[in-house]
Amino acid sequence: MTALPTLFVSHGAPSMVLEAGPTSGFLRSLARTFARPRAIVCISAHFDTRVPTVTASARPQTVHDFFGFPEELYRLRYRAPGEPALARRIAAALGHAGLDSRLDAERGLDHGAWAPLSLMYPAADIPVVQLSLQSALGARHHLRVGQALAALRDEGVLILGSGGATHNLRAFRGQVVDSPVTEYAAAFDRWLHDAVVGGHTAALLDWERAPQAAINHPSAEHLLPLFVPLGAAGADAKGRALHRQFTYGMLSMAAFIWGDDGLGARRERA
Ligand code: ZN
Repeated sequence: MTALPTLFVSHGAPSMVLEAGPTSGFLRSLARTFARPRAIVCISAHFDTRVPTVTASARPQTVHDFFGFPEELYRLRYRAPGEPALARRIAAALGHAGLDSRLDAERGLDHGAWAPLSLMYPAADIPVVQLSLQSALGARHHLRVGQALAALRDEGVLILGSGGATHNLRAFRGQVVDSPVTEYAAAFDRWLHDAVVGGHTAALLDWERAPQAAINHPSAEHLLPLFVPLGAAGADAKGRALHRQFTYGMLSMAAFIWGDDGLGARRERA
């Protein structure tokens, strides 16, 4: 089996799953662009703990961790199974890398995980495990977490970071979904794109010095999930942009992939 690629997606507002738009359309078609994973480990902006924590429920609940959205969204359930054995494998891999971790058999899937996954894999038939981030520990820590998980790619596990390429929710008020793109968001998005596709890992780790970094990420939790798939892909791996779009004038919905798409053999047969 070829190692699976690793992935970062911007999840935007959870209402995206109810809307027909460029990003929901992109996510619906995304699964066809690389080999089907056996399981998924998702690092979401919405699971932030002091110590790396892995969900270990066999049947994770759907967590509706947002307010003020349409009622329909709160009725949505994403019933993908968990995989406690994979959770233990992840904890062991982190341990080998000198990283402490915990298992949490109670926690379900937050919208950073289930919103994109419900579009990518609507049948909910691939096991999903979440691994928390540690926003206090910065980019290097998350790169290291990704490096610790790299071997899982050879076992058909998809390492999926879910956050936001830009995420200045302080500017959200008064914006509409198709508001013109603000210059500060465009500037950071452009920098991020160029650094990812150029494989400029050192620059990415120093993202706080990038153009307009502070206004686009007043807190780091929506950018940090990018460093786990990057770390799992290899130190100076060059990514590819799969999708670029803005919503509300300041939320970049950029998505990146690293590594081979794993479809080579299938292409040869075709
Ligand atoms: Zn979010």
